[in-house]
Amino acid sequence: MLTEPYKIKVVEPIKRTTREERYEVIRRAGYNLFNVPSEDILIDLLTDSGTSAMSDSQWAGLMMGDEAYAGSRSYFRFEQSVRSIFGYKNIIPTHQGRVAENLLFSVAVKPGYVVPNNIHFDTTRANVEHNRGVALDCVIKEAYDTRCRLPFKGNMDTEKLRRALAEHRGKVPFVMMTITNNSGGGQPVSLENIRATRAVCDEFGLQLIFDACRFAENCWFIKEREAGCNAKSVSEIAREIFAMGDGCTMSAKKDGLVNIGGFLALNDDKLAEECTNLLILVEGFPTYGGLAGRDLEAMARGFQEVLDEDYLTFRIHQVRDLGQRLLDEDVPIVEPVGGHAVYLDARRFLPQIPQREFPGQVLACALYLEAGIRSVEIGSLMFGRTENGKEIYPELELVRLAVPRRVYTTTHIRYVAESVIEVFRNKDRLSGLRLVHSAPVLRHFTARLEPLAG
Ligand SMILES: *Cc1c(COP(=O)(O)O)cnc(C)c1O
Repeated sequence: MLTEPYKIKVVEPIKRTTREERYEVIRRAGYNLFNVPSEDILIDLLTDSGTSAMSDSQWAGLMMGDEAYAGSRSYFRFEQSVRSIFGYKNIIPTHQGRVAENLLFSVAVKPGYVVPNNIHFDTTRANVEHNRGVALDCVIKEAYDTRCRLPFKGNMDTEKLRRALAEHRGKVPFVMMTITNNSGGGQPVSLENIRATRAVCDEFGLQLIFDACRFAENCWFIKEREAGCNAKSVSEIAREIFAMGDGCTMSAKKDGLVNIGGFLALNDDKLAEECTNLLILVEGFPTYGGLAGRDLEAMARGFQEVLDEDYLTFRIHQVRDLGQRLLDEDVPIVEPVGGHAVYLDARRFLPQIPQREFPGQVLACALYLEAGIRSVEIGSLMFGRTENGKEIYPELELVRLAVPRRVYTTTHIRYVAESVIEVFRNKDRLSGLRLVHSAPVLRHFTARLEPLAG
């Protein structure tokens, strides 16, 4: 049996609430969990971003931070830690992942340019589009089938990529690859697929840039699943992956095990210089990039800790165990379980609720009301839109249970599983929601809803 490969040194109390209190909270929040104060939440599975617990070494490192404006010792330690894993020549710190994207795309993407990726994450897509480029998803088609069990469901469809590159010749600044594929359910990409993608890039003389947010989890899956990789260490696999690329964007709020931080790494000196010039304009001097010296120190340590195989084995199994407990009771989820979250399939969970009544949001609210658990809807509230007076709904109606790193114990996870199963048993009692207020863009953050019945 796997146990947590760490013990608890500091605790943060979490508050139990009654069902009556939660009913009041969710009503006041307009049935939108983004409006719920975290104090009123027992288990918070809204995101795995910036929610990790830091280690005693990272906390100690904060005291060692060098807050010099230029040439900080902490920067050099950060640079050395990043280079030992990623290998790239120019390492530009940023305060989170989307700034790395913003710098890179502002410099490299011109109006009408096309940026292929397996699946763009929301902020990646938004930053491409902000520069009037086109964000093109080239993932294998099985990624969209929630029941198709493939070991590497995040893979690029290299034929689709080749066709896109031929069609948009001269308009593609580089190819991107997101590991693991967050928007596709945290599914990994294989080494073989990265090699094949690299070969396609070479045919067209293009750079390959990784969106490396969950690189360590991706490497662990390669070690577990890919032929000939079991004897390699996760660190070796990481070096092998990044050696096939020309740079990466990184949100250290994921596999950097910190609460804030990120970077952009590039081999290309000219591109790096232009990005650095922009960094100075929007984030700060190149040796701190919008962060305190102590944040760089925490990241330097986090990148080494995340490659610990005992940690990764526990991490992946903790998420997988949650999924398995649900599958054992026939709760519909996205399969196979990815690296950082379990996704409930709300269409199959609540077949009686049509998409116009927000079944994913109904389910997310029910989980809060019954058990004090916060999840996030990824469905018609987040992605639905009105076009010519007609509502357009997304294909998938999901509720994501994202598991923060090193934060919750096995008992917490078991509690989550039992709560979801309880809601599933009583699913026939749930009814739809109606939108009463919504903003024109990214409406899920501020929307207000109300129950149609009761
Ligand atoms: C979180 C994330 C980002 C953006 O990073 P932030 O630190 O939130 O700005 C980019 N890509 C992927 C795949 C992510 O998961």
